[in-house]
Amino acid sequence: MFRKLKEAFARFIDTASSILTSREKLLEAIEEFKLNLVASDVAYEAAEDIAAQLSRRVEEGRVKRREDLVEALREILLGYFTNLGALDLVSLARSRKPFKIVFLGVNGVGKTTTIAKIAVYMRGNGFKPLMVAADTFRAGAQEQLKIHSERTGIPVFTGRYGWDPAALAYDAVQYGVGRGFDVFLIDTAGRMHVDVDLVNELKKVVRVVKPNVKILVVDALTGNDAVEQARFFNEAVGVDGVVVTKVDAYEEGGVPLSLAYVLGKPILFVGVGQDYKDLKPFNPIEYVDRVLA
Ligand code: GDP
Repeated sequence: MFRKLKEAFARFIDTASSILTSREKLLEAIEEFKLNLVASDVAYEAAEDIAAQLSRRVEEGRVKRREDLVEALREILLGYFTNLGALDLVSLARSRKPFKIVFLGVNGVGKTTTIAKIAVYMRGNGFKPLMVAADTFRAGAQEQLKIHSERTGIPVFTGRYGWDPAALAYDAVQYGVGRGFDVFLIDTAGRMHVDVDLVNELKKVVRVVKPNVKILVVDALTGNDAVEQARFFNEAVGVDGVVVTKVDAYEEGGVPLSLAYVLGKPILFVGVGQDYKDLKPFNPIEYVDRVLA
């Protein structure tokens, strides 16, 4: 997990530690470090910012020892995760009923699996979740959620292909509230070729359903694409928090950092496997400790 990013930091810390007395060489090493960050999926503007912040500390004479360097990096990285705001689904759902979550994301990122994982998580916290198959566009989307429903025992509200997703989602909430469901997990379409129609469709779902939270699901393995998708969905309908999937198989490492920098919204969970229990709350301190270890 995050091997490449970890190596980029380790290599830089080793190189830089031996040239701390030469400001010029150190600034050169920072430039090279920046490129290695980009190669580990750190978004270019985030890598630039890390390099700039570090260079400033060097110029100010604040980096004298190896420990200063590690501490400076730690401070810079953690800085990207503070002030993102916290989003605790369990406490939010306790005070807002019905609690409606709209899930956004392109096909194949692990969106339906994540919906099922979060449904299981919410059930474990005493809620009565209903999954809503409001992707009426992609062949198989309805069936996919039905399979998750059979496996988890969590009900799903389905419709027909071609139906208006906003109307379906609205009906699902009406139906569910009357039957004691208190958390609604609403799937939406995520055509790979994102277009104006999709944006209008998602806007309508949001307008009609009035979700309490909009969660974007991205696949860590897609690297920079994950960051571009975050930009796209945030501009289209707004994103409150992110789930990053397939982190168990992810070596580059930079996606969580890039999302924090570019999107400025909290990462709620990471997906760490295919099982329903393979969902972990994202902890920025653990992440930073891991890449700086
Ligand atoms: P969707 O098209 O976005 O709904 O994607 P799916 O939920 O069907 O997931 C696509 C594939 O990714 C499936 O084989 C999932 O089991 C797998 N998957 C989803 N999340 C994770 C994860 O966190 N780790 C791993 N290793 N696989 C995952």
